[in-house]
Amino acid sequence: MVKDALRLRERLQGVIRGNVLIEEPLSRHTYFRIGGPAEVMVYPADLEDLKALLKVARDESVPALVLGGGSNMLVLDGGVEGVVINLSRTFLDLSAIEGLIRCGAGVRTSRLLALSARSGLTGLEGLTGVPGTVGGAILGNAGTPSGTVLDHLEWVRVVDCSGEERVLQRQEMSVSYRNCALPRGVVVVEAAFALRKGAPVEIRRTISRLLVKRNLTQPVEYRSAGCIFKNPPGDFAGRLVELAGLKGLRRGAAQISDKHGNFIVNLGGATAADVLWLVDRAGTEVRAKTGVALELEIRVVGSPIAR
Ligand SMILES: Cc1cc2nc3c(=O)[nH]c(=O)nc-3n(C[C@H](O)[C@H](O)[C@H](O)COP(=O)(O)OP(=O)(O)OC[C@H]3O[C@@H](n4cnc5c(N)ncnc54)[C@H](O)[C@@H]3O)c2cc1C
Repeated sequence: MVKDALRLRERLQGVIRGNVLIEEPLSRHTYFRIGGPAEVMVYPADLEDLKALLKVARDESVPALVLGGGSNMLVLDGGVEGVVINLSRTFLDLSAIEGLIRCGAGVRTSRLLALSARSGLTGLEGLTGVPGTVGGAILGNAGTPSGTVLDHLEWVRVVDCSGEERVLQRQEMSVSYRNCALPRGVVVVEAAFALRKGAPVEIRRTISRLLVKRNLTQPVEYRSAGCIFKNPPGDFAGRLVELAGLKGLRRGAAQISDKHGNFIVNLGGATAADVLWLVDRAGTEVRAKTGVALELEIRVVGSPIAR
């Protein structure tokens, strides 16, 4: 495998300008601080690099996984085969003109929110405290009961696996709770949001109120991947996990938070296997006690055993 990775790195270095790493531990790049290595990880320098990289992956039949802020992902301990495209340093442009914010997919949601507040544009406050990038937020229709990222989305610019660019209007996108179904394999590179005018002081007040609430109710002092399960219709996954008596349960260095039943936290040095054990236990016990089948909100990627 390392031989394959070296060959792929050489091929990629021949066509792109961005940084190409092999066997890069993904625990350095996920919010959870968990995850085995990426066979090859690339930081595309720009749009042309991304297109070239996607074409190489397609021609070589190598799987490609996009990584934004890694805040909605559990990377398994054996790591990820193929290419991980790290977009956290690419597509960082951000501008507000009139009521329209244009934003690169690698921009942190916190930066987007800060610009909207500064520009007196309201509508994105539901993203308060949601870590990660705008690309990842769009894929997961990230948000809170105060609103989601797609509420005010106008369009996204995407690149497909043959390197073709296209713009998808919001109406063309199939959206559901914590999901946005884009054509298979596309990478989001830019998005535009149409926002209403609001008073900056009011927007900042709302953001502060939502941040205080989050800090009081969520284990923000620990590494995690946010909510593990989607909330079932009319209920809260955290309430059901608590009802099953599982808050505080530990496996290795992973723990179902004693502050919020829908968070699993890394107490330091947890493995993906520890987390999965807790996920499985919570799913099984909640089903047995309440009849509800919980669905995962986090994205589990990679292989459980070393390649
Ligand atoms: C403490 C904490 C609190 C959280 N609170 C919330 C919350 O309140 N609401 C909520 O919705 N989420 C929440 N989350 C989850 C997470 O922050 C969001 O889902 C976030 O939007 C993910 O963005 P990311 O860049 O980290 O995505 P990643 O985890 O890097 O990726 C998520 C998925 O999107 C894909 N992806 C990423 N970027 C792109 C792109 N440019 N093009 C194509 N595919 C892409 C990845 O391949 C992956 O499938 C929380 C997480 C944490 C750790």
